[in-house]
Amino acid sequence: MASLDTNVAYLKGVGPRRAEALQRLGVRTARDLLYHLPHRYHDASTVARISTLTPGMDATVIGTVISKGIIPTRKGLRIFQAVLKDRTGLIEAAWPGQPFLDRVVAKDDVLLATGRVRFFHGRQLQPREMVNLGAGTDLDEVGNGRVLSVYPATEGLSFKQIRAIVHAHLDSLLPLVKESLPRGLLERAGVPPLREALRMVHRPSTLAEAEVGRSRLALEELLFVSLLQLRAKELARERRAGISFVNKRDLTSRLKRALPFELTGAQTRAIREIVADMCGDRRMHRLLQGDVGSGKTIVALFAALLALENGYQSAIMAPTELLAEQHARTFGRLLAPLGVEPVLVTGSLSAAERRARAAQLAGPAPLIAVGTHALVQEGTRFGRLGFVAIDEQQRFGVEQRAALGAKAGGAAPSSRPDVLLLSATPIPRSLALTAYGDLDISVLDERPPGRIPVKTLLRPSSRRAAVLAAVERELAQGRQAYVVYPVIEESEKTDLKAAVTMHDELANGAFAHRRVALLHGRLPTDERDAVMRRFVAREIDVLVATTVVEVGIDVPNATVMVIEHPERFGLSQLHQLRGRVGRGAASSYCILLGDPGPETRARLEILVNSDDGFEIARADLRLRGMGDLFGSQQSGEPTFRIADPIKDDALFAMARATAEEILASDPDLRRRENAPLRAALGERYARAMELFRVG
Ligand code: ADP
Ligand code: MG
Repeated sequence: MASLDTNVAYLKGVGPRRAEALQRLGVRTARDLLYHLPHRYHDASTVARISTLTPGMDATVIGTVISKGIIPTRKGLRIFQAVLKDRTGLIEAAWPGQPFLDRVVAKDDVLLATGRVRFFHGRQLQPREMVNLGAGTDLDEVGNGRVLSVYPATEGLSFKQIRAIVHAHLDSLLPLVKESLPRGLLERAGVPPLREALRMVHRPSTLAEAEVGRSRLALEELLFVSLLQLRAKELARERRAGISFVNKRDLTSRLKRALPFELTGAQTRAIREIVADMCGDRRMHRLLQGDVGSGKTIVALFAALLALENGYQSAIMAPTELLAEQHARTFGRLLAPLGVEPVLVTGSLSAAERRARAAQLAGPAPLIAVGTHALVQEGTRFGRLGFVAIDEQQRFGVEQRAALGAKAGGAAPSSRPDVLLLSATPIPRSLALTAYGDLDISVLDERPPGRIPVKTLLRPSSRRAAVLAAVERELAQGRQAYVVYPVIEESEKTDLKAAVTMHDELANGAFAHRRVALLHGRLPTDERDAVMRRFVAREIDVLVATTVVEVGIDVPNATVMVIEHPERFGLSQLHQLRGRVGRGAASSYCILLGDPGPETRARLEILVNSDDGFEIARADLRLRGMGDLFGSQQSGEPTFRIADPIKDDALFAMARATAEEILASDPDLRRRENAPLRAALGERYARAMELFRVG
């Protein structure tokens, strides 16, 4: 074997057909094969024969399921039981409270189970861990291996075949592997060299060893991705000329004095960062990230005022008409003492009004425009746009954001507007960098003082009447309520309660004497806004809604929210929904009504016990993966195959710091000591070529 670049088709035992299957897994060369890592391991290193098990022992067994079923107990607990058989005997295994396993485990499946052996009408194993190896697994083959690596497979190529190929070539390929990471980093992270790490992940003798190997490869990936991102960001920054504003401290200082509250420390810090960006000669591209209620709007207003006192126009874009109106009202109130009035631009203006506003925007006079995507629609021109803020930016598509950013497109680069994105989806800073790439970040990690946390409760549907009675008690005190459903209409496919039906049921039942209204995404926009306006004006007591109430809206008199089928929502989404209450001085409640299984219950408990959007988002990421948070349209950047930026956050921090250090002294990796890094980047990432001119 000459090189790791050799096509896998030329490896013994592969051939053209298997090479084609491997290609579907992204494996083309011998190097790709080395980096095709097991995604799971089964610990078969200490398998005991069933006949040798005695009560009190902790053991791992491998056996075929010869019978199974759910046993109810007197206390209402449901137990999944299976009888396992190997060549030496039988044992009963029991999983209390996990009846769902009945759907996952079939007769004749081979299970690998680890747990304690008890005495219960004979010997019984209570597994802590279980892997279903599937029917037809050869018990002896598995039992003889130590730790079994399982590879991502594809049609026409099973994980066993892949394992055989990898293991057949591992010993001849490993000597070709060259170290790529700086030795100092390996030492600091306490991880083995590359060759050793690859051996550990493919052929570990213990699970712990597999994890050590994986963490080394994760560190490498995190470093490479960090290098690419930082370099891309730096190049983009160099290309990014913008307006240099002057910090006149005129309108901004006056606003600060006129505010009915003190800014939080986090707000002050964010404003300082933004002012520094805007006064610099590069174009600002910054994300302001802060939990629901952290006070992002006011920060954006300070930036708009800075532009205004420099004679520029600002555009602040919100995802719904209602939110735009709310911002316009807030701004109007706060800016009145300064003699400034915001210009509201939405789709529901009359034709005459729209023409008048359009003329205003197209003129040279400084102003603050607040609106919906009407701000970016064709025909809207700004005479002198200097600052753009996009609220709830995750609600907009990439194109809409780009459209607003490009509004002053024809202008010279040095007069392009500064951009601030606002988001309540709290994601770890390191991850945000990954997701958004070329972006600076300010975080509001502090809430305005005096807020009472929302009390969150999880109640079974059998307590529905009591929950509705609790809502009624709030209504009786003149408060308002939200009741949220995951779907608009009922369907035959699911038995989910739906907003439309439940609106009728509640309006004619529990809340017959109250004013009840329905809100969902399929209503025409003007109707939706009309309903919300009536809710704001307290003409509605109970709002039955879907997640359209999720963003932005501020109704301090609403003190209770009931969410049915909470299991259907992501944790961050629930947190965002919950943020609609608890906005006034009174205590508020969020009641999750449903009957989640044990796993979902554990997930929902996180929400019940935490009020910290950041912590909740981390948990959500851990449980659901990253895809849900970013959606495919937001990523586009190099993503992670080995590392898990959440689980590996300590490694990530180390990798990022190392990448910063390396690039600070050697921005395009020209130095001799960085040659191995440069080579490895070129081999593994196509983008490295344009960024570092390697290859
Ligand atoms: P979000 O970050 O969710 O967009 P908002 O900007 O809507 O939050 O602010 C939520 C509420 O908190 C608003 O009513 C706002 O006026 C108020 N607020 C903002 N900053 C402060 C502060 N420093 N002290 C007290 N209240 C504040
Ligand atoms: Mg907001």
